[in-house]
Amino acid sequence: MLRILLLLVSFQAAAQTAFPKLENKSRFTAEEKALILRADTSRMMRVTLTTNPQDFKILTTVSEDIAFDDPLLPLLARRMYLSVTDTSTNGVGIAAPQVGINRNLIWVKRFDKTGEPFEFYVNPKISWKSELLQLGAEGCLSIPDTRSDVIRSYAIQISYNTLEGGYFSEVIEGFTAVIFQHEIDHLYGILFPQRVDDQNTQEFRKSEEKGKRLLYNKRNNKRM
Ligand SMILES: [Zn+2]
Repeated sequence: MLRILLLLVSFQAAAQTAFPKLENKSRFTAEEKALILRADTSRMMRVTLTTNPQDFKILTTVSEDIAFDDPLLPLLARRMYLSVTDTSTNGVGIAAPQVGINRNLIWVKRFDKTGEPFEFYVNPKISWKSELLQLGAEGCLSIPDTRSDVIRSYAIQISYNTLEGGYFSEVIEGFTAVIFQHEIDHLYGILFPQRVDDQNTQEFRKSEEKGKRLLYNKRNNKRM
């Protein structure tokens, strides 16, 4: 009897790891469905711009989680992919608010993997950021003609769901970590010029050992 009970307990623990907090994740609203279904898989989604007041509201709104098995997710993912890889944009990442959907979904070009594939992440979260920082130029598909140097963590740990229902956690560093931080910021309604404003009020010192593009933040910055 005790053995059966133990087996049950361990099975439940495994199931929770595979499908975390599924009960809290909602489905697309009627309005979101209409936007996703406005065109078929061959058409990209329009990219929202900060210069458009209605788009700006979407870009500065905090997004919500979505059930990984929502039937419209593959279509939205495909249409977002076409938006980020379109020759007119040529992006390295995109977040769902950038196509008018306030949901926690991103595409990231994995420069740290062979072949540099684009990968899609459902409900991505940053669970850890390194104190070691890096400085690099960033632009944004939603902010026309603007580029600035932004200070980001050199390494991060993220967790996410996949469309297949998997739940993963991994550590990412370098430029790919910058893309993740930029895209996940979008999910909290944060645009990179806000990061530039924030960093201008702080002091940084160069890291002795890692070269001039890496910095160490000497203040305790909890906002990222
Ligand atoms: Zn952006």
